[in-house]
Amino acid sequence: MSRSLKWLMLGVIAYVVLACSWWSVLLYTKNQDAYQAKMELQAIGMAAEGLISSPSQYKQTKQYKELEFEYKRQEIMIISEAIVLLIGVCIGLWFVNRLILKEIAQNRLQKNFLLSITHELKSPIAASKLIFETILRRRLSQEQIQQFSSDGIRSSDRLLTLVNNILMAAKLESSYAYNMDSVNFTRLVGEQIDAIESKYPDVILERSLEKTRDIKGDQTALVSVILNLIENAIKYTPIDNPLSVSVEQLDESICFQVADLGPGIPDEEKKQIFAKFYRIGNEDTRRTKGTGLGLFIVNEIVSAHKGSIQIKNNTPHGTVFQVSFPN
Ligand code: ATP
Ligand code: MG
Repeated sequence: MSRSLKWLMLGVIAYVVLACSWWSVLLYTKNQDAYQAKMELQAIGMAAEGLISSPSQYKQTKQYKELEFEYKRQEIMIISEAIVLLIGVCIGLWFVNRLILKEIAQNRLQKNFLLSITHELKSPIAASKLIFETILRRRLSQEQIQQFSSDGIRSSDRLLTLVNNILMAAKLESSYAYNMDSVNFTRLVGEQIDAIESKYPDVILERSLEKTRDIKGDQTALVSVILNLIENAIKYTPIDNPLSVSVEQLDESICFQVADLGPGIPDEEKKQIFAKFYRIGNEDTRRTKGTGLGLFIVNEIVSAHKGSIQIKNNTPHGTVFQVSFPN
């Protein structure tokens, strides 16, 4: 659909440019013919009145020179108008084309988001329902109840993370009021790593947390940055590959770094992944779950804290997300 629309748009652009060129050439030749006829008539008239002895003498007359001057003026006017019109039409169509392509890309992202969110919402709800039904219908041992309950908590956690991300993204776009205060970022990262280690016991997480000066920031928003980056590293990395998280004090900023040994992010995708709903690949072929909101939220929050984000390639493979906050 989007491909055919793109070709249709290119066809319209080509048609308009050709039509403009054709009308300009037509106007130019008609103008030429009109002046030619005017000059011939004037020459005949002057010969009839005896002002010139033959039509060939006409070219030396003042009337001819005036008409020729007027013709040249009209000629320059037509050519320059045609050039300006063509440039204007091309610029206009280029903008329209860009807007349409942007709209198409946005629609595709929103469609992907709807597909993934439907799945993301349905599966934990269905899992929780099944767990409760099983607990209700069967006589279970204490051990089994504990197992089912922790599965239920995991499902609810998934749902909570999803809903939090959606709410956060919506608030950031409309009315999120940052509550800026002095924050010990290193302590915040340490606490989140502890929480993540108990949530994902199989994940190998190496930490290197330096003592840093406090930064001015919104604690809730900063937690969202930390969690989104670490959870991405976990999600996109095979389970037995270690991740490393570090915080370092630089001269006038702190550097928070999350490095993984996953598949890495291709260079052409590095800028795009911060767009809302953007996920690499498409919904049919993707194995990991997500809505494409995480990095959009990270980017918005880091910008609001006057920080910056860099994505680097890890060695031998994988990704390093580096976030700096001034302090
Ligand atoms: P959500 O975070 O909303 O649950 P998500 O993880 O798909 O969904 P983002 O966090 O915004 O969305 O990430 C966007 C895309 O960037 C991901 O779909 C993934 O393709 C890619 N990506 C992000 N982090 C990594 C990483 N550490 N390694 C490889 N790819 C990554
Ligand atoms: Mg994510």
